[in-house]
Amino acid sequence: MARLELDSVTKRFGDGGDAVVAVDDVTVEVPDGEFLVLVGPSGCGKSTTLRMIAGLETVTDGEIRLDGSRINDQPPAQRDIAMVFQSYALYPHMTVRENMRFGLEESTDLPADEQNDRVESTAEMLDITELLDRKPGELSGGQRQRVALGRAIVRDPAAFLMDEPLSNLDAKLRSEMRTELQQLQADLDTTTVYVTHDQTEAMTMGDRIAILDGGELQQVATPLEAYHRPANRFVAGFIGEPSMNFVPAAVEGGALTARRATAGDAFRYPLPAAAADAVDDGTDVTLGIRPEDIVVDAVDVDPDHAFEATVEVVEPTGSENVVHVELAAGPSVVATVDGLQQVRAGETVSVGIPGDAVHLFDARSGSALHSRSLDSVDLESRRVRP
Ligand code: ATP
Repeated sequence: MARLELDSVTKRFGDGGDAVVAVDDVTVEVPDGEFLVLVGPSGCGKSTTLRMIAGLETVTDGEIRLDGSRINDQPPAQRDIAMVFQSYALYPHMTVRENMRFGLEESTDLPADEQNDRVESTAEMLDITELLDRKPGELSGGQRQRVALGRAIVRDPAAFLMDEPLSNLDAKLRSEMRTELQQLQADLDTTTVYVTHDQTEAMTMGDRIAILDGGELQQVATPLEAYHRPANRFVAGFIGEPSMNFVPAAVEGGALTARRATAGDAFRYPLPAAAADAVDDGTDVTLGIRPEDIVVDAVDVDPDHAFEATVEVVEPTGSENVVHVELAAGPSVVATVDGLQQVRAGETVSVGIPGDAVHLFDARSGSALHSRSLDSVDLESRRVRP
C-alpha cells in the first residue's frame, strides 16, 4: 500500500528544436488505495507517464515519490511496483505457474514453498488454478490477461500500474474483466494507476480520473465531477458518448447569438441568470450541451429555449435513439432520447435546450466559465432505497 506523487513531472524526448515534450509539468497525487485512471487521446503522454513511474523511462524534470521517498533514480526492480502491459508480456516457454513465480523470484527472497503458496492462492483468486501447468500459447486472450494480472498480484506490490490491459479483448470480455478488475482492486486495496484511451473505461473504473491532452494534465476529478463540471472544453468533449454538443456564439445582452452562413433568423439563446452572470457582454464563448439534456418534442420547455428543427438522422441503439437534428436557426446538434420514442428522419420537431443544463466555455482558451446546474435535479428522490 502506498501514496504515489508526481510533482511537476516532465518528459522530453530529444534535444533542441527536435525535442518532443511527451509529458509537460504534471502534478498529481494518488492516495493510498486509490484507483486512478489516466485517460486521453493517442499520443497524449499516458504511457510515458506510466513508464516513468515504473522506472522504464527516465524523468527529465520533477520528482516521483512513493510514500514520500523520491524514486526517480531507483531501478525498476527496486521499486515496489508491478506493471501489467497491454501485450501481457508473458514468457512463452514457461508455464503459467513459472510465469507467475518468475516475478516473485525477481522481486523477493521468499522461500520456495511460500512462493508456491502465493502462486496457488493468487491463481485461486483469479480462477485460473486449472491453467497453472499450461503455457501461454495454450490460453485464450482473456486467460492470458488473467495470468498477466496474477503475475502482478502475486508480488503484493505497493502499487499496480496497468497500461491498457483490456484492449486486446473483445467487447463482452472487456466489460466482464472491467467489473472483475474493479472488484479485485477493491479487495486488494492496492494503489493503482490505470492507463486507457477509452473514456467509458475511465468513467466506470476510476475512483478519480486524470485527463491528459498534449502532455498536459487537464483535470483530475471523480468521474461524475469531470462529466458534470468539466474544467474545460477538451474534457467536456472527451468525456461522454455521444460527445457534448458545442455551438460557437457571442454574448449579447444576456443572450447567446450565433451567426449563420445562410439567410434566416440567427440562433438566439437567452441565458439564465447564473450563466449570464458568468460571462461578459461582447465576448465569444462556446455553448455546451449534453445530448441527453436536449429534449426532442419539447412540449414542457420554456418557449425561449425551444427551437424548430429538422431530424436528419436517427440511430437506434435499442435502449436509446441518437437523434441528429438541424435547428432552423442554424446549428446542428445530437440528442439522445428514449429508445421507444418515435422519431423519424425528415420530421420537423421542437427541440428544447433547458437553461439549467447549459455549459459555457471561453472561445479562445476553452476554460469553463459556467457549468450546468444540478440544483433542479432532485438527487434525493432518485436515491435507491434498501
Ligand atoms: P497511445 O495511446 O497511442 O499509446 P500515449 O498517450 O500513451 O499514446 P505516449 O506513448 O506516452 O502517448 O507518447 C506521448 C508522445 O511522446 C507522443 O507524441 C510520442 O510520439 C512521443 N514519444 C513517445 N516515446 C517516444 C520516444 N521514445 N522518442 C520520441 N518520442 C516519443
